[in-house]
Amino acid sequence: MNTYGRYPVVLVRGRGMKVWDSDGKEYTDFLAGIAVNNLGHCHPRVVIALQKQAQKLIHVSNYFHIEPQIKLAKMLVQNSFADRVFFCNSGAEANEAAIKLARKYAKENLCPDKFEIITALNSFHGRTLATITATGQGRFQKGFTPLMPGFKYVPFGDVGAVANAITENTCAVMLEPIQAEGGVNLPPENYFRELKTLLEEKNLLLILDEVQTGMGRTGKLFAYEHYGITPDIMTLAKALGGGTAIGAALATEKVAEAFSPGDHASTFGGNALACAAGTASLEAILEDGWLVSNCARIGEYFKKGLAGLKQKYNFIRDIRGKGLLIGMELDIDGTDIVKDAMKEGYLINCTMQKVLRFVPPLIVTEEEIDGLIQALDRIFEKRSAAA
Ligand SMILES: *Cc1c(COP(=O)(O)O)cnc(C)c1O
Repeated sequence: MNTYGRYPVVLVRGRGMKVWDSDGKEYTDFLAGIAVNNLGHCHPRVVIALQKQAQKLIHVSNYFHIEPQIKLAKMLVQNSFADRVFFCNSGAEANEAAIKLARKYAKENLCPDKFEIITALNSFHGRTLATITATGQGRFQKGFTPLMPGFKYVPFGDVGAVANAITENTCAVMLEPIQAEGGVNLPPENYFRELKTLLEEKNLLLILDEVQTGMGRTGKLFAYEHYGITPDIMTLAKALGGGTAIGAALATEKVAEAFSPGDHASTFGGNALACAAGTASLEAILEDGWLVSNCARIGEYFKKGLAGLKQKYNFIRDIRGKGLLIGMELDIDGTDIVKDAMKEGYLINCTMQKVLRFVPPLIVTEEEIDGLIQALDRIFEKRSAAA
């Protein structure tokens, strides 16, 4: 259906930082399938894991135990705050699971009238009816009312606003550690620590949507590690499956206990093929310890390069981000810049009309970043000359 504004390009092949189209044109990929291909395209470990698993067992349903799912769940639990994992197939579904779990936990453990979830303006949590409602942006909700009851929005980064929004019906606060789709917005330094204190006082759950920030993207395996706090529930998807469709909701034992058999399910969720790819991908991220630390270091290098452009062009308003989730806010429309970049052989992204978003694979090198900066310089030069 006509749901995507696609570029007139057919991509046929990828390897590491590069993809090629059907005319043989080469692109350096700073989009990475929207922050999915953290290891680059067709990483050998992921490819081999998929080939091996495909020959052995692809899918059997969650009526049975399967080794790849157990293995991936174990790795996620060992490397995070969580004790339990529920697998599904996408970010939106992971957030649906989180919303259902938070409601069930609050109704069972606190009071049956607790169902309301506070989320942030400019957030993004997915495209199902519940998750467009959780998403604090009218542009995703237009045309789809009535929305789900039980959501309330506050400005991102304002603890006082959360405190004012809490009522006896509130059960949880759901946030991205860094708002990605909403323009790469970072919270103030102490925001999450102060928020966590408030939520503990009020006995409310913190749900972190790490669908985009997780799996090393921000220079830590999970972005909450930057803030010195842990959530009660965390959702993952995007980079979790090394390019295959998988999502997960993780939780502490205490919260996860609210789900019993029959409460929630997914036919495909965490199937053998996706979990084999996810396991290979997470193993690569963890064993190549430099990948995540490289992400932190090279992200700073990237921001410096972009700051050089900001010195030169007055229509560049701001540069912000953490690790390799970086935004460049412009005073001009960014969608044409994306098209110009494609002509130059670079895949980049624009969100909120005016924010160029860079989410390359974590294997990106300084040379590749230099190349992109030079290409942007040429594009911006032409824009200023025209203006
Ligand atoms: C992409 C994204 C989602 C939605 O994920 P889908 O797999 O497209 O459903 C949810 N939350 C955040 C923070 C995202 O970046």
